[in-house]
Amino acid sequence: MTVLPLVFDAPRPTMPPRHLADLTRDEARAAVTELGQPAFRADQLARHFYAGVTDPAQMTDLPAAVREELTGALLPGLVTPVRHQSADGGRTRKTLWRLHDGALVESVLMRYPERATVCISSQAGCGMACPFCATGQSGLTRNLSAAEIIGQAVAAAAAMAGGEIPGGPGRLSNVVFMGMGEPLANYKRVRKTLDALLSPAPHGLGLGQRSVTVSTVGVVPAIRRLTEEGLNVTLAVSLHAPDDELRDTLVPVNTRWKVGEVLGAADDYARRTGRRYSVEYALIRDVNDQPFRADLLGKLLAKRLAHVNLIPLNPTPGSKWDASPLPAQQEFVARLRAAGVPTTVRDTRGSDIDGACGQLAAADGIEDAVEGIPSIAVPVPGADAPSFEEGVALGAESDQG
Ligand code: SAH
Repeated sequence: MTVLPLVFDAPRPTMPPRHLADLTRDEARAAVTELGQPAFRADQLARHFYAGVTDPAQMTDLPAAVREELTGALLPGLVTPVRHQSADGGRTRKTLWRLHDGALVESVLMRYPERATVCISSQAGCGMACPFCATGQSGLTRNLSAAEIIGQAVAAAAAMAGGEIPGGPGRLSNVVFMGMGEPLANYKRVRKTLDALLSPAPHGLGLGQRSVTVSTVGVVPAIRRLTEEGLNVTLAVSLHAPDDELRDTLVPVNTRWKVGEVLGAADDYARRTGRRYSVEYALIRDVNDQPFRADLLGKLLAKRLAHVNLIPLNPTPGSKWDASPLPAQQEFVARLRAAGVPTTVRDTRGSDIDGACGQLAAADGIEDAVEGIPSIAVPVPGADAPSFEEGVALGAESDQG
């Protein structure tokens, strides 16, 4: 297994064309006015976009003469489905998307009896270099624009509404930022995406704050920034080890922000929102699943407003690691609960289609699916000189529109 450097700066600033979903409502109205149309057409376009309508011919509330021009200028198709793969009798569906520059990302829609969740990507690849994660091992290609991130959720909502998933027409209820990428390393665009997910029609999907989960390796300044936003979305922290020594190797960003700092920032978020955060912990056989580590984690979290979500490690190509055996999992759970920490074990949907946590890589087998698309697993230029400064980490996004 190669040890990759941390990369905060997205190396290929080939951002997509302007899209309505990147704009505020006022900006969208101004853009429509510039095209010589009344401002209210921005609302009409937004309603179509969030309803998943892509064919201008169906936008019958717009004059036929301007449909093509308006959709061409403000609703360019940014995420094109390349293939769907299904599991669990069709109730789990992974979609591979091609972006305007050929970059590839994946999202996974999971339907349960009482909810439907889509797991979306915020970056093409990821710069956080976690050695047990397929995406982390592929390196960072670029940040996604807000519209590219939102587009994945809109497509999932449309698939549910259109009855594409077995169980009849339904509603997308949950969104988790647990696909490819580190959402808090693409803060500005993820922030815009949150607005779109939470806003009622016509300018969003109208989801509940609790139904949206932002998962992070622990980019502390960005957790603090999120705390100041006044949002109440669910925060998940990918901890994977209670001690800095092990976490430095499993989640390399720990060399920059330590366990204590990450949990401190998450605690402040929990205090502000009054809501528990989730601690993600992939159980890796003989690496982080020892009883003493369960006790250490229990002690660390006992007095915090947190619950633990254990994920038996999903296998990734080339990894020497595998999931903890069931008895070790059960022992780990028992010790955490004995310490008073609410603990669940995640039902890992979609592992047979490489659609489970940490398995999204988008490059594998893609040559079979589509011709002429380069693999996204490109070496990252300048990767040997990463910058860990907060200003750079959070400012890196600003140079990309
Ligand atoms: N970058 C963000 C979100 C993407 S990963 C983050 O790290 O939180 C979503 C979750 O899947 C994270 O908790 C991540 O650590 C976990 N994960 C990654 N690879 C995994 C694997 N092979 N098996 C199980 N979980 C994994």
